Order: sequence, then structure tokens, then C-alpha cells
Amino acid sequence: MTSERTRARMVERLRSQGVHNEAVLAAMGAVPRHLFVDEAISSRAYEDLALPIGFGQTISAPFTVARMVELLCAGRSLLKVLEVGTGCGYQAMVLAHLAQEVYSVERIGALLEKTRARIWPMRVRNLRFKHADGFLGLGEAAPFDAIIVAAAAPQIPQALIDQLAPEGRLILPVGVQKQRLVMVERRGGEILESVLDPVNFVPLLGKLD
Ligand code: SAH
Repeated sequence: MTSERTRARMVERLRSQGVHNEAVLAAMGAVPRHLFVDEAISSRAYEDLALPIGFGQTISAPFTVARMVELLCAGRSLLKVLEVGTGCGYQAMVLAHLAQEVYSVERIGALLEKTRARIWPMRVRNLRFKHADGFLGLGEAAPFDAIIVAAAAPQIPQALIDQLAPEGRLILPVGVQKQRLVMVERRGGEILESVLDPVNFVPLLGKLD
């Protein structure tokens, strides 16, 4: 249930769902998703489901991760990336396969400690975590070529737009009751916004826990 073959089947399913970027598919095929959830539910890790990761949070379904990451890297290579909402660290790990440098911030300290302990033995050199409020981005490492948010904001946090490098791209779910994926791009002096798929994420919350 947790073998390479199961992961290969997940990749084929993602392909049939419309994910075409080979680098993204390879990253999804390489990261052992079952190691990012509790053992009791690890047999379900490769189904197209969001799963509980404790602290009232969930790991996004594989299609959601693949779709967002594909949008983030369409037509370019990823250099410095910020992820808001580390959770169990799965998406951060997928990003670490694709980008030169990944920063990931999480507001729940205890969840981040659990994730750090899980990822430490995997020896990922280009991934850094920080206990911080993602509404504020991560000024100390800005600007970012790409920012991806794993929780829904009521509106687009201005700090995230401000921390986009020229030609940078931000992907995030926006909305309270009804959420849509939104892509924000910085093009020269202009900020372009596109509203994409309906989605269903846990809320982006302020103040650290
Ligand atoms: N990418 C994660 C998905 C986690 S769910 C994964 O692969 O598992 C979203 C996460 O966003 C939760 O862990 C939640 O605690 C976190 N979060 C919510 N609001 C936040 C904020 N303001 N700053 C940082 N993290 C936040």
C-alpha cells in the first residue's frame, strides 16, 4: 500500500486528472507521502484525499498539491520559494525537489516541531522551516520567485505581494465560505490577478500558536 508502485499509480492518476508537467509528476512520484501522515492512516496516503495531520489541520489531496505546484512553476524554473502553512511538510518536500531553495512557515509551533523531527533524518539541504505568521510572509528571506499558500486567506495578504520578486508568482486560496485559487503575478510594475479553480482549504489564521 505504501510502495513505489502505489506511488506510480498515483502519478498516473494525476496525469489523467490533467497534470502534465513532468518535473512535477517526478517530484510527486519521488516523495514518500505515507511517511508524512500517522501510521494508522498511512495506507490511505496515496488516495486523492485530504487527510488529518493533527492540530485540526489537513494535508492537501495529491491533486491539489500537484495542481498548485504546476501553476507555480509553469514556464520557468523555481529558484527561491516560500510556502505558507508547512503542516506535515509534504508539499514543502515536493517543492524541495523542484526549487533551488525553499522556505516554509507554520504558525502552530508544536506541529512544526513534529514536522522538523520527521524531516530531519531525510537530510534535505535546501529546505528551511520557521515558526512564523505567514500573513507577514518572511521578510528576512524575501524577495521570492514564487509563494504558495496552503490555507485560505479572506483576502490576499499585502506582505506576500510585496515580497514577490520581479516576475514573481503567488498562488493561494482566497475566500471564507466559497474559496477560489488565485494567481498573482508581478510583471514589471504591474500586478496581475487571475481567479482559478474552486477549492476547499483550512483557514489562514493570524497570531502564533
Ligand atoms: N502544505 C501542508 C498543508 C497544511 S494545511 C502539507 O503539505 O501538509 C495548512 C497549514 O497552514 C496548517 O498547518 C496551518 O496551521 C497553517 N497556517 C494557517 N494559518 C497560518 C499562518 N498565518 N501562518 C503560517 N501557517 C499558517
